[in-house]
Amino acid sequence: MIDFELSEEHKQVEQMVRDWAAREVAPRIHDLDREHRFERGFLKGMADLQLLGICIPEEMGGAGMDYVSLGLASEELEYVDTHLRVIMSVHVGLNCMTLMCWGTEAQKKKYLVPQAKGEKIATYGLTEPNAGSDAVGIQTTAVKKGGYYVLNGEKVWISLADVADHFLVIAWTDQEKKKQRDHSGLSAFIVERSFKGFSSYTIKEKWGILAGNTGGFSMDNVEVPAENRVGEEGEGFKVAMFALENGRYTVAAGATGLVRACLDASVKYARERKTFGVPIGDHQLVKEMIAQMVSDYDAARLLWLRAGWLKNQGRRNNRETSLAKWFSTVASERSAADCVQIHGGNGFSDEYPAGRFYRNCKAAVIYEGTREIHKIMQADYALGHRQDKPRRIELPAYQR
Ligand SMILES: Cc1cc2nc3c(=O)[nH]c(=O)nc-3n(C[C@H](O)[C@H](O)[C@H](O)COP(=O)(O)OP(=O)(O)OC[C@H]3O[C@@H](n4cnc5c(N)ncnc54)[C@H](O)[C@@H]3O)c2cc1C
Repeated sequence: MIDFELSEEHKQVEQMVRDWAAREVAPRIHDLDREHRFERGFLKGMADLQLLGICIPEEMGGAGMDYVSLGLASEELEYVDTHLRVIMSVHVGLNCMTLMCWGTEAQKKKYLVPQAKGEKIATYGLTEPNAGSDAVGIQTTAVKKGGYYVLNGEKVWISLADVADHFLVIAWTDQEKKKQRDHSGLSAFIVERSFKGFSSYTIKEKWGILAGNTGGFSMDNVEVPAENRVGEEGEGFKVAMFALENGRYTVAAGATGLVRACLDASVKYARERKTFGVPIGDHQLVKEMIAQMVSDYDAARLLWLRAGWLKNQGRRNNRETSLAKWFSTVASERSAADCVQIHGGNGFSDEYPAGRFYRNCKAAVIYEGTREIHKIMQADYALGHRQDKPRRIELPAYQR
């Protein structure tokens, strides 16, 4: 039987995150956004709520909740501001969940446990100045020397670049395969900020997610212990794609929260603002924009919930997660644009949140697979050009 009801536990998580974000973040977000300021105190708040290890088993330092809870938290966080959900995407989705599945026991103990407890913050480094969608175009190399790999390269557009302690880095270990663009020459590594030769910076010219930290990092002959390789040598591409499947899920749920934020702000304004003697919500063309947000919200929510349900069952969800991510991010862009429109001239001012929503929505249409990449994936599944092959490591089903 199909059940569309959230469990009591789910409702509690949703309410807990909603209350915290409304209390601690909402009153300050306007100023933090205007000042381009990342508030580290929010990491502590999220850690206290166990959000930074929400779906990581308790024995690995996490809260032991299911993947739907991860989605609910992501939706509630982005309802208040995108940068909070970005923390969930890179720290939990891309990094912790990857270590949970691909990490050795020693890696879990050393890196995952403190991350899941929120004592250490983690992110993901795939993108480089000349390669984003084209992941095999990256140039970072990892050359084995005794018990170490020596990493050299530049990563850019990295969320939490100046904040994180640990970085999941993709690099070429096979230089012949690099020339041939054969992704079986890539490997994944855990790099610590404290390693010699590592340096990071913040991108100052960014125009959205202004309360978040985004930057880049360089690795100049960084010696990474061989035991920090994640997966086998040559499995880096698989690790990177596995990570993205979970990161995308949080992006999908988060963008759904942004649609709801646009809807709520639009409804409020449409009831208050009057033109031609009536509230603007009485005009059919304004109603049309609001109706679109309503349908986008429900469709986006159903799509990410289905992906979460599949994850809970331990079933493959690449196609469904990609569809949820594509749909919800594009829907959030549409909603944010209409939210500004409904606010008229006031939508063009940061006195109202509509402008922040509009700036924040765009990056999610670009990262974790651009709109175009997801369209191609969906068409390829439909055309039979793409099929999910069995993997050595899968996300485990949720076990209470
Ligand atoms: C705010 C922000 C945070 C980010 N955080 C991270 C992070 O934490 N870690 C990380 O590794 N990366 C991160 N990224 C990087 C992000 O994942 C990349 O920007 C993204 O993958 C796109 O790569 P690109 O910028 O190189 O664009 P390109 O790949 O150069 O694409 C440019 C355009 O060409 C289109 N295009 C490319 N190839 C095709 C094709 N085959 N068919 C049709 N169209 C195509 C794209 O859709 C896009 O419209 C972040 C980006 C942003 C903006």
